[in-house]
Amino acid sequence: MGGNDDCQPAPKCRSIATAHATAALARVWTIDDASKRWIEAGRLVAKGRREGLRCPENGDDDLVVEWLPVAAGRGEFLLRCPRCGARNFVLVGEHHEPPE
Ligand SMILES: [Zn+2]
Repeated sequence: MGGNDDCQPAPKCRSIATAHATAALARVWTIDDASKRWIEAGRLVAKGRREGLRCPENGDDDLVVEWLPVAAGRGEFLLRCPRCGARNFVLVGEHHEPPE
């Protein structure tokens, strides 16, 4: 009993399609949430925060903040997660002081 189930492709195809749709939906939500968290992290960094910033992508570790000078007194912060490799840049305007 049940030996014929493996010979029917339709249910299998449907389950794969459903899995794809669910994954796509989850991805959209994750990216949307993550971009909001990146923006929030960037705002905190621009205000002088350097530690305790949770990885916006996966929340798996604290972000490492690096200063990348572009010109005198100007540059951008590189925020990266040492655990999953997620990264983003925060551009710093002229009126912001570069870090020590
Ligand atoms: Zn991470």
